[in-house]
Amino acid sequence: MRPDILNPLFAETGTLDGVGPKLKKPLDRLGLEHVKDVAYHLPERFVTRLKVENLDQAGEGEQVIVALTPTEHRAARSGRGPYRVLAQDSVGNICALTYFGRASYTAKKQLPVGEERWVAGRLDRYGDMLQIVHPDHVEKSPDALVARLREPVYRLAEGLTQPRVAGLVEQSLAKLPQLPEWCDAALKLREAWPDWADALRTSHRQEAEKARDRLAYDEILANSLALMLVRAANRRRKGQPLQGDGHLRDRLQLPFPLTGAQRRSIDEIVADMAQEAPMLRLLQGDVGAGKTVVALEAMLAAVEAGAQAALLAPTEILARQHFETLRKMLAPTGVEIAILTGRDKGRVRESTLLGLMDGSIQIVVGTHAIFQDTVNYRNLALVVIDEQHRFGVGQRLQLAAKGKRTPHTLAMTATPIPRTLTLAQYGEMDVSRLDEMPPGRQPIDTRVINAERMDDVVGAVERHLTSGQQAYWVCPMVRDNEMDDIAAAEARYAALRERFGEDVVLVHGQLKPELKDAAMERFAAGEAKLLVATTVIEVGVDVPNATLMVIEQAERFGLAQLHQLRGRVGRGAEKSTCLLLRGGALSETGKQRLALMRETQDGFRLAEEDLELRGGGELLGTRQSGDTPYTLATLEQVQRLLPIANDDAKLLVDQDAALETPRGQAARVLLYLFERDWGVTLLRGG
Ligand code: ADP
Ligand code: MG
Repeated sequence: MRPDILNPLFAETGTLDGVGPKLKKPLDRLGLEHVKDVAYHLPERFVTRLKVENLDQAGEGEQVIVALTPTEHRAARSGRGPYRVLAQDSVGNICALTYFGRASYTAKKQLPVGEERWVAGRLDRYGDMLQIVHPDHVEKSPDALVARLREPVYRLAEGLTQPRVAGLVEQSLAKLPQLPEWCDAALKLREAWPDWADALRTSHRQEAEKARDRLAYDEILANSLALMLVRAANRRRKGQPLQGDGHLRDRLQLPFPLTGAQRRSIDEIVADMAQEAPMLRLLQGDVGAGKTVVALEAMLAAVEAGAQAALLAPTEILARQHFETLRKMLAPTGVEIAILTGRDKGRVRESTLLGLMDGSIQIVVGTHAIFQDTVNYRNLALVVIDEQHRFGVGQRLQLAAKGKRTPHTLAMTATPIPRTLTLAQYGEMDVSRLDEMPPGRQPIDTRVINAERMDDVVGAVERHLTSGQQAYWVCPMVRDNEMDDIAAAEARYAALRERFGEDVVLVHGQLKPELKDAAMERFAAGEAKLLVATTVIEVGVDVPNATLMVIEQAERFGLAQLHQLRGRVGRGAEKSTCLLLRGGALSETGKQRLALMRETQDGFRLAEEDLELRGGGELLGTRQSGDTPYTLATLEQVQRLLPIANDDAKLLVDQDAALETPRGQAARVLLYLFERDWGVTLLRGG
């Protein structure tokens, strides 16, 4: 149970004054669900304004506060373009106050002709006219503005303004409870960190390195501590030691020798499984590194020892593909394998459930359906989770709770993340790395092309398809909004279909599973030649004859994601090509990132360099990307503070495993505050 002291922080944002259904939407879009989220919505930066007598005293681009008298309102021409209010300063300079969209209603009310107003905003030039676009404040007297010479600037969403957010932040800061101190006293003293509530308040008022560090440290510590508790709880659990005798593995007839990295990983996994403490291991390996075979060997070892194994895939498509691959490979062993997804119903499902219960099915592949309450296993002892990055730690734990005794867990991920972040994200696990690709892979010819050359690109696709090969076309991520992405994909699909007819199929996240699978199956069978997709193909799909990948607006993707997408091609004997289409205006970093994609195919290197290029000040986490556990800490802070937090968390768990001392109790509050309560839940059992 969450400590009561946190209740005010976990009240919905709807309980704040002035937040109705209309504000709720933009707040949700920013991920501001609870009062604490608003309190933690820290300024991106601060503006410092200059109060001037007249506009001659201000330079372009400067933030000013100035008295202006409106002389004329100019409505938008033919309903388009901005609404402008012309206004005069004390010495006769004319300045346009410019409003776009619905903001013009406010302008009409706030800026009556002939009445002096104090305006705060950024002075710009439009043609040969001075202008201020969307003034931040318009007031009758300067007093209120002068109090705000220095002001935070918050990340906004459509429908929110700076003053609005600032007001909500004020309200939420007023609700901060007095929380017990979870920071180590000596550390806090050494770093001269403020108390938690102080740190929050200060961070909203000014650039405050110490305060920001403290808040970031809290987040990092919460995460490290939760992972440490998982690790400790796991060590106390009883699993089932599995000693395979190799009789099934010997019957496998793999068409290739295993790589050294695969052998090493298999050895590590098999050794873990032979222990009584349940395995908690991450298999990290680039796309195409050959994780499936490693999983297969592990599952066979479990079956040899008389147990069952389950492989969990994040999507239906991937589950089916794994099932087909594994079924073929398993044929010479006589091992029974079944698939179970939400789509399997009726008789087939019944018989699968029966087989899992009586143990006649030894390996099951599926989506989440394999862990529903209605599914019972005779002796499930190994759970393999593919594309682990799609699942959170909470879900990992849920799975572990399934067997009578805790099953061994092998998590696999193809997201090559840097070492620092591996620790941050998977700190509770041991790690095996497949850092060696199977031999004979041809490098993928990667080119960056300006999107204006669309005709050439479509021509290249046409030649490619005519030669009998297949291609992927990945549509842009339009915004954070999935529906917009789908609209863009639909439009591209329509255009390409006009050109290539029946040969084109479309896959996106909102398609009914049947339609999606039908499209994927047509593509995998070679009936469809061109697969147009949003990023849903990111994960795992394997079609060796697909040797061309087109990615629209490549600059919008993270390097790791581009790398994963590109990894869909280059899986067969033919030479593969990847065309990265880019928009016209590209930042320097944007250019460097795409250049890097051309230069290397090493996912781990791309991940490290991506991090470098993003720079230290950048936030690591965006809520949707899920590739880091942090939303507050910057890269630089993680690199500096994570080692300290890890040591601190370890010490805390060593000294007070049940978190019962005063500091332990405070640490519980911390875990709840950062919604790492799965860490706390483990304490009960232990
Ligand atoms: P991923 O790590 O992305 O899941 P897969 O397991 O799908 O990779 O393997 C990619 C391809 O490489 C498959 O076609 C697989 O059969 C092949 N492969 C795996 N291991 C080897 C190996 N040691 N030598 C040659 N090919 C291999
Ligand atoms: Mg895979």
